[in-house]
Amino acid sequence: MGGSSTDLGVGFLELEELGDEDRMLQSEAHRVAAEVLRPAARVLDAMAPADRVAPGSPFFEVMGTLKSLGYHRLFLPAEYGGPPEPLSPLAQALVLEELGWGSLGLTTAFLTDMLPFTSVAALGSDELKQALLVPWAEDEEGRFHGCWAITEPDHGSDFLGFREGADRSSMRSQLVATRQGYGWVLQGQKSAWVSSGPVATHAAVHAQAGPDGNLHHSFFAVVPLDVPGVRKGAPADMLGVRDDPQGEIFFDDVFVPDANVLIGSDPLYAVFGDQLLCVTSTTIAPVAVGVARAAFEEALAYARSRVQGGVPITEHKNIQLTLYAMFEKIEAARAYARQALAHVRRTSMAGPGGLLADPAHPPTGSSPRHSRAAQILAKRVAYEVAHDAVQVCGAFGLSRESLTEKLLRDARCLLVEDGTLEVLAFDAARDLVAHYETSDYDLEEVMARW
Ligand SMILES: Cc1cc2nc3c(=O)[nH]c(=O)nc-3n(C[C@H](O)[C@H](O)[C@H](O)COP(=O)(O)OP(=O)(O)OC[C@H]3O[C@@H](n4cnc5c(N)ncnc54)[C@H](O)[C@@H]3O)c2cc1C
Repeated sequence: MGGSSTDLGVGFLELEELGDEDRMLQSEAHRVAAEVLRPAARVLDAMAPADRVAPGSPFFEVMGTLKSLGYHRLFLPAEYGGPPEPLSPLAQALVLEELGWGSLGLTTAFLTDMLPFTSVAALGSDELKQALLVPWAEDEEGRFHGCWAITEPDHGSDFLGFREGADRSSMRSQLVATRQGYGWVLQGQKSAWVSSGPVATHAAVHAQAGPDGNLHHSFFAVVPLDVPGVRKGAPADMLGVRDDPQGEIFFDDVFVPDANVLIGSDPLYAVFGDQLLCVTSTTIAPVAVGVARAAFEEALAYARSRVQGGVPITEHKNIQLTLYAMFEKIEAARAYARQALAHVRRTSMAGPGGLLADPAHPPTGSSPRHSRAAQILAKRVAYEVAHDAVQVCGAFGLSRESLTEKLLRDARCLLVEDGTLEVLAFDAARDLVAHYETSDYDLEEVMARW
């Protein structure tokens, strides 16, 4: 299958907004996605889990290429090697969609790599920035790799429901940090689902602060994984997103100096966690749109060439309507994903890498509901479109030869990755019920009229 892209993910309504620089950025990201990510992703997908993390694996080559091209610096402030002018939200979405089009797994690896280091950029001391952020930003070979160690064997969704109303104050984490001298000692483990866990050199770690702490008032630290007491589990063998190895991380009396703790054990953690989920939601949404677009383009290209009933199957009305429905869903998901990303970047973050409100755009309070909803819509659309793409391609769509088969497996994982759709929806629903402004409803007056 060709997999070439003609529309390049430009939503019709944004055509006029795109400047030359945005177009160049997008076209280069598409080239990288097509020439680097997608071929490597297909090789990795077919490899055994242990081989994917062994020296010489294409995974490391791809990460090194992305670093050599400076993709990890795109979202950093200029002072740490980021673009002279911060990327606009639209430009961010364009890049994320292209990378997602190339590979969900490798893009997940690219994003989780950034999480510990952009957190240091936003919240770390100058010393920590010099120690961790600068070497990572200057890396052009892929020597460092970050991961997000949040979920645990006993707490998956429990960690992803950040809105008030989700009572997590009685829940005990399986990773506990105990105060010791000028730092904390970590004891416990994170789940087998940590993306890039088996290859990570650094982790953004959520842990319960003290034996009496709980999930609601946890803390958040960046931990180098080459320190004594860190152990990795075997890479997991998953249905999809196989191009990003997942695996457990164990912490056995691992000392974390105070300087590495970015959010202490106070109520700020709940605010931080909520904002972090706004950021991850609006980051993964354009990636999911890229997955959907990849499936649509594969299906359209195949349908144009496949002849049944003496004509290309694109002549059959059912195929036309299916392709139309796919297109409509992608455009709607893309528009919402981009709006939500722009909103969250303006209201929840002080520019790229920041996590504090921008005084010029005070938070409106609607970021949580819109970020979750945009994420849910984009992921659902990715799954539905990938499902329909397989149907359009018939038996070929189910074969390992076809990209649609991989896209369907990857898109299925999206319904769980970074929070299940249901739990994300509960989070948004709590926000709506608690904060969405309506006029007062006088039920007694209504009943009196009956
Ligand atoms: C591809 C992929 C990548 C991932 N990457 C990472 C990563 O980088 N770092 C990391 O730490 N984790 C990662 N995860 C883990 C991911 O965050 C969790 O899988 C997800 O949050 C769900 O947790 P769980 O799998 O334990 O499911 P559970 O929480 O056990 O949920 C099981 C089912 O119960 C439902 N459920 C759970 N709680 C409730 C509730 N309160 N009310 C109603 N229904 C509920 C869920 O919707 C689901 O259907 C990844 C997972 C995947 C699939």
